[in-house]
Amino acid sequence: MGVLFCPARAVRTVRTITIRSESRTQMVDITEQVASIVHESGVKEGVCCVFVPHTTAAVTINENTDPSVVRDFLTQLEELIPQISPHYTHIEGNADAHIKSAIVGCSVYIPITNGRLSLGVWQGIFFCEFDGPRNRRVYVQVLGQSGAQ
Ligand code: ZN
Repeated sequence: MGVLFCPARAVRTVRTITIRSESRTQMVDITEQVASIVHESGVKEGVCCVFVPHTTAAVTINENTDPSVVRDFLTQLEELIPQISPHYTHIEGNADAHIKSAIVGCSVYIPITNGRLSLGVWQGIFFCEFDGPRNRRVYVQVLGQSGAQ
């Protein structure tokens, strides 16, 4: 039986992706940027954490092949949580964005196997803007073991 974890091969890489969103609600496919950070980290087996440090934005994993999936997601989310409601009390006027952010979530974790993100064939990683346009950040932390001996 091999060694499960070798401290000498432990890697921790932290990077920031910057995004300038272009509309109030928008989903930005960041899969390639995250994949290249994983590639540059040299991690062969581990985990990649993608974290959004904002209260009116989010990150999720979903289909990135057919753009209608993203369109339907944003349309339906808007119908469920409209921008304007007589029930909102938040003085900034972006209560809907806070609720959407909380529901969609501020982090995703993707296993890394053989140096690659273990995403499904149709899966992509999306930064979700709910109160743009703004300058945004996404933290990517890669933890695991390199392939070096
Ligand atoms: Zn607010």
